[in-house]
Amino acid sequence: QIDTAAVQQMDAAHYLHPFTDFKDLAAKGARVMVRGEGVYLWDSEGKKIVDGMSGLWCVNVGYGRTSISQAVYQQMETLPFYNSFFGTTNVPAVELATKLAQIAPPAFRHVFFTSSGSEANDTNVRMVRRYWDLQGYKERHTIISRHNAYHGSTVAGASLGGMDGMHAQGGLPIPGIVHIGQPNYLEAGQELTPDEFGLKAAGWLEEKILEVGADKVAAFIGEPVQGAGGVIIPPATYWPEIQRICDKYGILLIADEVICGFGRLGRWFGSELFGIKPDLITFAKGVTSGYVPLGGVLVGERVARVLVEQGGEFTHGFTYSGHPVACAAALENIRIIEDEQLVRQVADDTGPYLAERFAALGEHPLVGHADSCGFVAGLNLVRKKGATVHENELFDESLGVGMICRGHMFDNGVIMRAVGERMIVAPPLVMTRAQIDEMTDLIRLCLDKTYEEIKT
Ligand code: PLP
Repeated sequence: QIDTAAVQQMDAAHYLHPFTDFKDLAAKGARVMVRGEGVYLWDSEGKKIVDGMSGLWCVNVGYGRTSISQAVYQQMETLPFYNSFFGTTNVPAVELATKLAQIAPPAFRHVFFTSSGSEANDTNVRMVRRYWDLQGYKERHTIISRHNAYHGSTVAGASLGGMDGMHAQGGLPIPGIVHIGQPNYLEAGQELTPDEFGLKAAGWLEEKILEVGADKVAAFIGEPVQGAGGVIIPPATYWPEIQRICDKYGILLIADEVICGFGRLGRWFGSELFGIKPDLITFAKGVTSGYVPLGGVLVGERVARVLVEQGGEFTHGFTYSGHPVACAAALENIRIIEDEQLVRQVADDTGPYLAERFAALGEHPLVGHADSCGFVAGLNLVRKKGATVHENELFDESLGVGMICRGHMFDNGVIMRAVGERMIVAPPLVMTRAQIDEMTDLIRLCLDKTYEEIKT
């Protein structure tokens, strides 16, 4: 038995939550989650909720996997911690590095471990600068990223990210990180076909390279599908053109796969879906399905060769790099993904089914556009549908229609995230067709409720 009011009171008194208006939360009281099983959560009032967001884009194999908790328990009993600094290692970290080299695209045989996606992106900044330094290009330090990207909350991660609200707090970005537009067809694709727009948006990279000076640009970083920015699925022409531009100027390509990795897009890594060959891949979240914190950078041969053969000591690392317990959790999580063929299931069965159900939601009078890619999907709420997506009448942002809709979802037992007026999901990869029906029926009900509320 949990005393919800007492927990909320202590929460408000002591706990500063990430990405939260502290006063607002204290006034409303936090929702207390107490249990998870499969794709469902239960709160402290006993309410059952379909988790359309996999926690925070991470619980890929679903909640309640006792084989992961057993792997963690056994590892804690045997060796709960040892570091991998100064010439020591541990068996789960070595096994996981080997496993990752098997499932990653062929050019990746090395990994650097961290405990989070933010630390992994900080590692990227230091690693790509070192890569160029070692070859005598000490000026080649600028990294190009995109508006509205999310790459983490550390100083470098938030600088790589393109969220204005984050940059406004604390004087970010740090020097040497610049941004270009995101490939958001709905916002910027007027009078172009999606394919034409994909080429145009990739062209912004070339413009920025020329503005900065190609000899000063170290790398470009992007999420294959931008997640926290609103599930922005790029046109098919975008990534091949980005790859061509990176190749033309010899610039390293970093794919931030913290969300897209580990099956979310129906491939082990999202860059495989878009046919690109990054030099570095950031991962976290799905590597352990969020059961224990773990992240890292998969390092492709181009960079690894220089670091290993010419680098000497890389003066970088974290106490918990290669933490044996986190690595044991990851090994068991990956075994489950393989055993249950979840990547193929998303690619061939449940992913296309989710797409069908979202396309049907696109017919709702409140929805101006619906799309999906593997197991991420989104809906744009609009005041009035137009003949094309660019003729939709949008809501005045100050009405907060996305938040109203999110509130109905919460009250009716489904978690969907609101990014402005775009409503998004990223369900656990284990979600079945019947559970997709359950989730999308609830979403339809809440769209109806939102529609009724804003009409009155
Ligand atoms: N990169 C991407 C694409 C993310 O979505 C996130 C987190 O949502 C991060 C990096 C940061 O990861 P973490 O929160 O584990 O530091």
